[in-house]
Amino acid sequence: MISLTNLVKTYHTRDGQVTAVDSIDLTIDEGEIFGIIGYSGAGKSTLIRLLNMLETPSSGNVMIAGKNMNHLSNKQLRKARQEIGMIFQHFNLLWSRTVKENIAFPLEIKGVPKEEREKRVNELIGLVGLEGRGESYPSQLSGGQKQRVGIARALANNPKVLLCDEATSALDPKTTDSILELLVDINKKLGLTIVLITHEMHVIRKICHRVAVMEEGRIVEQGNVLEVFKKP
Ligand code: ADP
Ligand code: ADP
Repeated sequence: MISLTNLVKTYHTRDGQVTAVDSIDLTIDEGEIFGIIGYSGAGKSTLIRLLNMLETPSSGNVMIAGKNMNHLSNKQLRKARQEIGMIFQHFNLLWSRTVKENIAFPLEIKGVPKEEREKRVNELIGLVGLEGRGESYPSQLSGGQKQRVGIARALANNPKVLLCDEATSALDPKTTDSILELLVDINKKLGLTIVLITHEMHVIRKICHRVAVMEEGRIVEQGNVLEVFKKP
């Protein structure tokens, strides 16, 4: 589903240059829950932004669902982005809009007619367990409920891949577990490929099939979660 070859991202700053992602080769299979773990500054956010095409690679290739993301026109890029949903640590909701309006937002941008939008939003609300909260505003929700809104919005366009950027790092342990269970549920129900980045080992242990460990822009280890973590 996702294949990265010799991927490099170098930032040029006033003080010189930083290679945030350094010669990464990685393959993530369809339907897999894949974790990327590393300390702050390891390059995880840069990697996920490369997957989402919010950053362009300095060199190397990003292939998603058989498409080379380097060779797309702007129009193709917009379409390709709809196949990738993303959720965030701080949810990134629109605070002046209701739950339903937040979830409908990507559909509105895409120009989906109102009736179809409402039907889809109701389905999504059921999928993430937010029944009865559609008219609430984000400020009236708990952290876990806010992230459920984030997940529903990310799934609105039926993406093939869901990217999770420290999606449970702002939540308490119990809420974290409930969100991770929801992700597993969605992975099973929809066959969705999930890529998550985190600095928390228990998140990886709980739901990931495979993991890559990042240090200073490189993948220093990868494989089955049990194998990678059992090493001393
Ligand atoms: P992580 O998500 O693992 O904390 P990042 O991808 O945010 O890592 O950062 C990796 C390295 O790249 C760090 O040294 C960081 O300072 C640098 N970096 C990230 N984004 C930028 C940017 N937009 N401009 C310059 N340097 C950046
Ligand atoms: P809009 O006017 O488009 O409905 P807002 O002005 O409410 O959107 O919010 C724009 C962005 O600002 C949101 O995506 C959110 O990330 C951020 N934001 C707004 N209010 C808050 C808040 N109280 N706390 C954190 N972030 C906020």
